[in-house]
Amino acid sequence: MTVLVLVEHDRGTFAPATDEALTVGASIAAAQGTALHAVTIGSAADGLAAGLGDYGVTTVHQAHHDLLTDFGPDAWGAVVARLITSLAPSVVLATGTDRGNEVMAQAAARLDMPMMANVLEFTAENVGEMTRMRWGGSLLERASIAGSTVLFTVAHHSVAVVRTEGSAAPAVVMFAAELDAAQAATIVVDRAERVAGVTLATAPVVVSGGRGVGSPEAFAPLETLAGMLGGVVGCSRAVTNNGWRPHTDQVGQTGTRIAPEIYIACGISGAIQHWVGAMASKKILAINTDKEANMVAKADYAVIGDLHQVIPAVIAELERRRS
Ligand code: FAD
Repeated sequence: MTVLVLVEHDRGTFAPATDEALTVGASIAAAQGTALHAVTIGSAADGLAAGLGDYGVTTVHQAHHDLLTDFGPDAWGAVVARLITSLAPSVVLATGTDRGNEVMAQAAARLDMPMMANVLEFTAENVGEMTRMRWGGSLLERASIAGSTVLFTVAHHSVAVVRTEGSAAPAVVMFAAELDAAQAATIVVDRAERVAGVTLATAPVVVSGGRGVGSPEAFAPLETLAGMLGGVVGCSRAVTNNGWRPHTDQVGQTGTRIAPEIYIACGISGAIQHWVGAMASKKILAINTDKEANMVAKADYAVIGDLHQVIPAVIAELERRRS
């Protein structure tokens, strides 16, 4: 028996979120006395194998096929399903990112197996009993999963990563995936790239604007403040719905989940779907005209006032102190 981890990557660039699934996979493999295997999908990811030894992976399955040049959830799910059929692992897991959840759901559906998404707690000895996050984090549910193979994803940002640099490289096994074009129905066709620097998911400071900002142009002071603090600008869904900012800037359940050192929420009410994306922030500063706003109630610090006055005043004070 083995524990199998899906390695998330973007055309060969390792997705740091995979650290968490690998850490959990290693703890389960140790508790069960089984080997930790990983699967990389597409030949672009072959170079990732050597580094996976640092997480305790002993074997990497490298899935190859002409259709696996870029991310496609159904094709990736079909690969994972085929590997499950051939390996019969005791546990298969990924990190609960959008991609991790989608690929694991695809694999589970193909095999008619149950799959649990966004698991927060489990016992390595009895993996089938878990606590999972539902409804965007507003409900924690204890649940059981039955079957000889347990499929689940680990809630993103819920695990402290364990890694030992310089460990032995794992064995590599080629896996010739059998796929047809119908299994690559959904493929990545375009990417919105940030110009440079830190991303929303990794920035130490995020200055986010909500409906209270009022217009696309009014984000300029937020850009200035974020730039001064070495951060990036985020936003709420009200903003993306209005077309003021791209979806890549959205924080929340259907946007990006962030964990910066400080989150500055400007003109954002703090609806649950936004909060679940921001709640892992180390400190939160809310700037809002409404002292009853949910974001104000949950923040570590709050300024009750008009963001169009508060943000320029903060920028002016920073400039004064730095000059
Ligand atoms: P509002 O709720 O309208 O709040 C605006 C705030 O600005 C208010 O608190 C107001 O007091 C304040 N304000 C107004 N003017 C000023 C001013 N001049 N100065 C200071 N403060 C001011 N939302 C997300 O953000 N991310 C998601 O991923 C997300 N996913 C969703 C998924 C689903 C399935 C659903 C149903 C909803 C989702 N939403 C998401 C939407 C969410 O429910 C809220 O509607 C949204 O977050 C509200 O955005 P907001 O706070 O900017 O706007």
